[in-house]
Amino acid sequence: MDKTPTTLLEAVTYFSDPDRAFAYAVKLRWPNGVACPRMGCGSAAVIFIKTRKLWRCKDCSRQFTVKVGTIFEDSPISFCKWLPAIWILANTKNGTSSHELARALGVTQKTAWFMLHRIREAMRDGQPAEQFKGEVEVDETYVGGRKRRATKRGEGRDNRKGYYPFEGKTMVFGIAERGRPSKVKAMVLPDRKRATLFPHIRANVFPGTSIYSDAWGPYRGLPSVGYVHAFIDHWVTYCEGRVHTNTIENFWSCFKRTIVSPAVVYERWLGEGGAQPLITAESLAG
Ligand SMILES: [Zn+2]
Repeated sequence: MDKTPTTLLEAVTYFSDPDRAFAYAVKLRWPNGVACPRMGCGSAAVIFIKTRKLWRCKDCSRQFTVKVGTIFEDSPISFCKWLPAIWILANTKNGTSSHELARALGVTQKTAWFMLHRIREAMRDGQPAEQFKGEVEVDETYVGGRKRRATKRGEGRDNRKGYYPFEGKTMVFGIAERGRPSKVKAMVLPDRKRATLFPHIRANVFPGTSIYSDAWGPYRGLPSVGYVHAFIDHWVTYCEGRVHTNTIENFWSCFKRTIVSPAVVYERWLGEGGAQPLITAESLAG
């Protein structure tokens, strides 16, 4: 009977009622009825203890809450905050910082940071072994760090000769499969040499797939390992028909807005052309 929210304001209002937020979370977790989450039990014979908002399993006698075994476990944060937070993260194309989330929810930045971290965990794709196919883009980016002053003679000096613009930064390599939604795998790598990049491409991209990249030299060896390759020279243009790296570039800008640690290795679904529903019962239970 309740209309699910379509705007942020509606989402905050909708979930501000604790009972409604709780009922929503229960429905999200157990769309086919509450079942005991204990490994190997799964019994549907459960008794709800209303005053404490928990269930007791008739078969194994264990008590459980809707939060147990989910990203919400061990947190005193109520669903009135969690659900709008998920809603915000799943619907913003450009990413959300912990400061923005803190303001929107009326929680501390530290709490918002914790929530973002947990929600991103849940948004990860559970099958990293899945290989991308169709049209794939590869690219690298540098995150974190700062230009540092020389500590040893000749190291890190801004004198052209010994100047390392990426010093102190972490290189992140990304592979994107175009589509709706598009998919991205991102990983921290030590450098962007062929010997470093290629094993990850071969592990994550189906043989014979079309791969698009920038003009970075090592990528030109992709046809020799069984891929169809086309590259765009960013000194000349950014897009030539299908040949572009816009999907992965969009991901980087989203990634950089939300990133909190340069060591984060994460993958998420990125909606192309609008918001995508990212939260499923499976991802919450994971
Ligand atoms: Zn049980």
